[in-house]
This record gives sequence, structure tokens and C-alpha cells, in this order.
Amino acid sequence: MRVDILTGLPHLLEGFIGASILKRAVDKGVVEIVLHDLHDHTSDKHRRIDDEAYGIGAGMVMTIEPVENCINSLKTERDYSDVIYMSPDGEQLDQAMSNRLSTIGNIIILCGHYKGIDERIREHIITQEISIGDYVLTGGELPAAVLCDSIIRLLPGVLNDETSALSDSFQDGLIAPPVYTRPAEYNGWKVPDVLLSGNEKAVEQWRMDEAIKRTKERRPGLLPEE
Ligand code: SAH
Repeated sequence: MRVDILTGLPHLLEGFIGASILKRAVDKGVVEIVLHDLHDHTSDKHRRIDDEAYGIGAGMVMTIEPVENCINSLKTERDYSDVIYMSPDGEQLDQAMSNRLSTIGNIIILCGHYKGIDERIREHIITQEISIGDYVLTGGELPAAVLCDSIIRLLPGVLNDETSALSDSFQDGLIAPPVYTRPAEYNGWKVPDVLLSGNEKAVEQWRMDEAIKRTKERRPGLLPEE
């Protein structure tokens, strides 16, 4: 899978893709993540990628040309399944969407900034718009990082333990049960006995019971109606 991220601020994403699980995925060759600085794709002599919004006086809007130039040149090199724009009014990201995107092939992700992007980019170039929640951030870089992380950790070979993504919250319609590590007692706070019992079946049952209990408490909407 290849992910091309278009941004006016590539350095915001460099550290993120160069660390931890994303770095491991890149090093293993499971995914290729390429950052594109939109300033390199404009014919403007000052390398501007934004201009004043028509009609509202204040506020800058990202222009069409650098976005279209960059995307057109990428599309001549390979096929893309989706050209995604990170946008607060897009479809809200959830686990099912990440699962789907982890199976589709190459994607382009466009990060907006300022007041957003010229609407004609959305009409003519973008194929999917994704929000990470009902709040507004300064730019699409953090949302793009969130989206990439949620997709890439699902790709086969990225997490060490193949089953660990499957047992995460939301994957099986349940919230994940609590987890503990050594020491078995700290400040008098104890790990549940069953986890120390060595009885695999009992542990499995306990984890399922806890997952259901948590889901009832925290995300009852995930459970089928009784
Ligand atoms: N004026 C716009 C917000 C622009 S915020 C509006 O009211 O809808 C600037 C950029 O940040 C956007 O172009 C988008 O790429 C990104 N962004 C901000 N909040 C976001 C969110 N919740 N999800 C995804 N992208 C977001």
C-alpha cells in the first residue's frame, strides 16, 4: 500500500511517520508513506498555495493549482483507490472505515489549512471526505496522521502479534477488556486472581465478561438490542 499525503506543512508529519509502529511498517516495506509539500507544485513565483476567500473578505483558502498538479502527476505514476480530503464536515472516521481503507490499495490524503480548500477541488478531484470528529482543528495534518495510524496498524505484518489488532476495542463490536502487567500487587492494588491462575479458559471467559460489561457501561449502542 502506498499513502501520499499532500500538505503545506510536511514537517508536521515527518516526526510522526518516522517513529514507532508507522516507522516499523515503512521499514518492513508493508507501506510506503510519501509526503508532498504543496509549495513545490505551484507556478506562483512566491510559492503561494493560498489566496483570499471570495466574498467574505477575511480568510485564506487553498488554491486549486498546486493540489491538481501534484495529484495529476501522482496519478500518472500509479493507480489510486481514493483521493481523500480531511474535513470536519466529512464522514466520521470509525473502525469500520479504517478496516475498509486498510484493504483498498493506494490512497492520496489532502490536508487543508486556513479556511479550507477551494470548493472546486472537492467537487472535481476528491473522492472521499473524512472527519476525525465534530471539532475544528487548524489543519488537516493531525487528522491525516490519525487516519494513517488507524489504517496502517491493521495491515498484515505491522503489529508483532497478529491477533492484537483483532482484540482491540470496536473490532468485534465490543470495548476491549482491561489489561494488567507486573507487579501482581502494587500499593495493595491487585491484579484480578483469574489472570494469575494459568487457567486459559477461565481467563478467556473473564475477558469476554469484562468486555461485555464495559461495552454496556461505556458504549451501549454497540450491543444488539435485547
Ligand atoms: N472553515 C472550515 C474549517 C477549516 S479548518 C469549516 O468550518 O469547516 C482547516 C483544515 O483543517 C481543513 O481544511 C481540514 O483539512 C482540517 N480539519 C480541521 N478539523 C478537522 C476535523 N475534525 N477532521 C478532519 N479534518 C479537519
